[in-house]
Amino acid sequence: LLTASNLQKSFGDHQVLKSIDLQIGKGQVLALIGPSGSGKTTVLRCLNGLEIPDGGSVCFDTGPSVEFTAGTTQKQAQVLRTRSAMVFQNYNLFPHMTVLENVIEGPIQVQRRKRSEAVAEATALLARVGLEQKHDQYPHQLSGGQQQRVGIVRALALKPSLLLFDEPTSALDPELVGDVLKVIKELADEGWTMMLVTHELAFAREVADEVVFMDEGVVIERGHPEVVLRNPQNERTKQFVHRLL
Ligand code: ATP
Repeated sequence: LLTASNLQKSFGDHQVLKSIDLQIGKGQVLALIGPSGSGKTTVLRCLNGLEIPDGGSVCFDTGPSVEFTAGTTQKQAQVLRTRSAMVFQNYNLFPHMTVLENVIEGPIQVQRRKRSEAVAEATALLARVGLEQKHDQYPHQLSGGQQQRVGIVRALALKPSLLLFDEPTSALDPELVGDVLKVIKELADEGWTMMLVTHELAFAREVADEVVFMDEGVVIERGHPEVVLRNPQNERTKQFVHRLL
């Protein structure tokens, strides 16, 4: 579905991504793990056109393809957003909009879909995650877990080919994590293609087809979850997973 090649990104003189290659097939779930600061969030942001890499490329098999150079504009990078949608660590809901307005904003304003159709789809999606009573509430009236479920619905409403989850549960109180993971697991079981940055290694093992371990802007090891998380080959992966599991 998507191939990212030789992605590089620096902030000032700090090279955060050195040369990242990633591939994800249709229906696959890829978990991206690694220490804080290793560049995981930056990878997702590059795939979604929220960050412009200094070099490399991101290509959808049937869809947009961007070769990044020093001259790549934000607008050029943003075509990637026609195929992927992001779920953020801190939900990033629009605070001045109701739950329903948050969900229909992208379909109506960006995708130019009919309001009635967008509302019907949003209503069905919200019911699916148990938020049918919350349409007219504002984000601050919801718990973190409810806000994140709205964040997931907002991404689904765009009908993307690829869902990108950036540490979707790390801002949540422990008792709210389960509800959000349950929704993500259901989406995986339904066949959504997704890339998930997470510190929840037990969940990664349960849900991912492939685990990619990054450190200092480089992919150190990748493979089947049972190998990377249970029997890693690389010394740095070993240290990381043994600390967390
Ligand atoms: P975490 O698990 O803590 O979220 P991460 O692996 O997702 O970490 P990134 O968020 O991708 O790491 O950040 C990698 C490095 O890039 C960090 O050192 C961070 O400070 C730096 N960085 C990220 N975004 C920016 C930015 N906009 N400007 C400057 N530095 C940045």
